[in-house]
Amino acid sequence: MAKALVIGAGIGGIASALRLCKKGYEVTVVEANGYAGGKLHAIAQDGYRFDLGPSLFTMPHFVDELFELHDKTPANYFNYHRKNTICNYFWEDGHKFSASGSREAFIREASHSFAEPVEAIEKYLKRNRNKYELTATLFLEKSLHKVGTYLSKQTIKSILSISSLDIDSSLNTTNKTHFKNPKLVQLFNRYATYNGSSPYKTPGIMSMIPHLEMHYGTFFPEGGMHQISQSLYQLALDVGVDFKFNEPITSINVQNKKAIGATSSKTAYISDIVVTNMDVYPTYKKLLKNQPAPKKTLQQERSSSALIFYWGIDREFPNLDLHNILFSDDYTAEFDHIFNKRALHKDPTIYINITSKEHQKDAPKGHENWFVMLNAPGNYGQDWELLKQEARKNIIAKINSVLNTDIEKHITTEHVLDPVGIENATSSYRGALYGAASNNKFAAFLRHPNFSRRIKNLYFCGGSVHPGGGIPLCLLSAKIVGDLVPNIKKHV
Ligand code: FAD
Repeated sequence: MAKALVIGAGIGGIASALRLCKKGYEVTVVEANGYAGGKLHAIAQDGYRFDLGPSLFTMPHFVDELFELHDKTPANYFNYHRKNTICNYFWEDGHKFSASGSREAFIREASHSFAEPVEAIEKYLKRNRNKYELTATLFLEKSLHKVGTYLSKQTIKSILSISSLDIDSSLNTTNKTHFKNPKLVQLFNRYATYNGSSPYKTPGIMSMIPHLEMHYGTFFPEGGMHQISQSLYQLALDVGVDFKFNEPITSINVQNKKAIGATSSKTAYISDIVVTNMDVYPTYKKLLKNQPAPKKTLQQERSSSALIFYWGIDREFPNLDLHNILFSDDYTAEFDHIFNKRALHKDPTIYINITSKEHQKDAPKGHENWFVMLNAPGNYGQDWELLKQEARKNIIAKINSVLNTDIEKHITTEHVLDPVGIENATSSYRGALYGAASNNKFAAFLRHPNFSRRIKNLYFCGGSVHPGGGIPLCLLSAKIVGDLVPNIKKHV
């Protein structure tokens, strides 16, 4: 039987293992940590449960697809429900807006809240949908690095419609051409952070992201985000994928320009194909030291990272929902700090995620489990202890002012994760959440392909390669790998 070796049990690695297993490979996943899931991990502390990484779940059909691929009923492993409210937004001047998950209600309520014409919002959302429909197949679902991808009617249609994609203006400029109210512009600018980019740099095509939320919806997995990685891990075990934990791979072994396996801290594996789910930067720097590296790809600007405080809170906040944003009064300065100064702004935008709103058991009765996150620069050797202390003070002051409370006295337990912690836990270069940033229009083309151009039988999946970071895209990277690997020749 042909053997496949997958390096890393992040969501991309598990999904690739499932795809290869279905193709008939005998699959072994070798993981440096003692658990599966990578960034999709969780902790329990003092009676609270916290998802450590992702908090927003979109496009669940990409997860379901993996169960269906193996003829299993998704609901036997994994359940989720659609959210009626996308996010509660708060501004310092007291303005609040609860974004509905229904497109019609969103348009009506946003028009009222931000004094923008219904037609302007409708036109914007329609344009966003059009961007997605014109480009998704080309940019997200196929390898951008194979000639065949470009020889389709869909590609020609996208090229002919290029002016409607807003590739040459920033997301902020695009949003400003649609809306006068700076708060609504800020609300839509925020979607740049979904792939760790700046709205002042990322191209306007990124306005397709709100379309994904409004059209496909936002969801909450029963039991929390961690269930996404855990249910897929369980499926992989059930279909015969072998997992090795606490075993970092130290080199990918190459002979005659072909990957022939990999060596870990414990043993050497021989395989017909190798798929790496490790961040592409350390893959080249540590596992492929003697191989030429794609310089431009590795030099790409990294996405933002995060500073997260996980707080047990001894009371409930009825005006908060699962997802909440307390906006900075100076968004431009905030992104200037993150991407140019590599620092934290004193008035940051604060994201508060509370899974106990959906899953009561995540906190003791009458309490809430707060995941309080700031977008942060990557780890460039800053004094993170100092930055954390200052950020904690600024966050508390802002929460107190916007939510009219004294939050510090309600914090019963605390865990903190910074870019260094993210880098150490997952080998994500500079602690980037989403691999490379999409801060220019060529970013998609510079991302590493899902295969190696120089080394046969070597494939790449996960958030640092094509099509990019975030759970749905990592799952798509695995799908592309599944399509690229050779079928196993059956002996008769
Ligand atoms: P990773 O999760 O990075 O895992 C890679 C795995 O490879 C790790 O387990 C690592 O230990 C292992 N590994 C590395 N090197 C080796 C080696 N040498 N040998 C063996 N194993 C190795 N996405 C969303 O969709 N929604 C969100 O709301 C969201 N929010 C986020 C918030 C935070 C704080 C973070 C950190 C990320 C967030 N993301 C979000 C992004 C999302 O988590 C990632 O894009 C995705 O989980 C990355 O998966 P991956 O497959 O690339 O691998």
